[in-house]
Amino acid sequence: MHEETTPAEPSRQPHRSEERPRIGVLAIQGDFAAHAQALEDVGADALEVRNSAQLAGLDGLVLPGGESTTFLKFLERDGLLESLQRFVAEKPAFGTCAGCILLATNVSRPAQQSLAVMDISVERNAYGRQIDSAIQTGPTKLPGGPLEMVYIRAPRIAGVGQGVEVLAERDGFPVLVRQGRLLAATFHPELSSDRRVHQLFVDMVREQRGQPAVKPL
Ligand code: GLN
Repeated sequence: MHEETTPAEPSRQPHRSEERPRIGVLAIQGDFAAHAQALEDVGADALEVRNSAQLAGLDGLVLPGGESTTFLKFLERDGLLESLQRFVAEKPAFGTCAGCILLATNVSRPAQQSLAVMDISVERNAYGRQIDSAIQTGPTKLPGGPLEMVYIRAPRIAGVGQGVEVLAERDGFPVLVRQGRLLAATFHPELSSDRRVHQLFVDMVREQRGQPAVKPL
């Protein structure tokens, strides 16, 4: 209530590198709220995306887990699939679990349509049924030591193209991969309190906008 009498902070234009990137989270199904929270925690503005118009002006996009077949049905029904295809063809995108399946160029067990933008081959439900979902802690190339990884009916990345960097593996198979401005995980980093994977994605988005990463990796 004393705002009028408090001396105003000297006004200053935010430097571009201080701006919070605007990152969309596909909010059709799955744990999009947990992704949004994780993005906010590491300095981005998270916006839920349910239609093509909401993609406008975003700096990047997260495709959460869920059920990729169901995702595809909704995306086709809502006409979002083509807009997403255009978006991920040029902007940073991060797919977790079903989102990773959507980004892959090659999907098997069974084969299905995808956005086909990331040079990885993915086998769906490769680790068994829901009951075999697991939480494991494993090594990663990300600085800061081993990473907790929550797997829920996870796909397996069976092969990666030349331009794909493997940042973590499980039983010899990649579980966290990066290809330029694209990032994919077969696990659910949004369900752990460790924010390093979301931090990496937000840094990738900043890089793409020509801004220095907040914490260089
Ligand atoms: N099994 C799901 C699929 O094939 C992915 C599971 C998940 O996103 N947690 O689409």
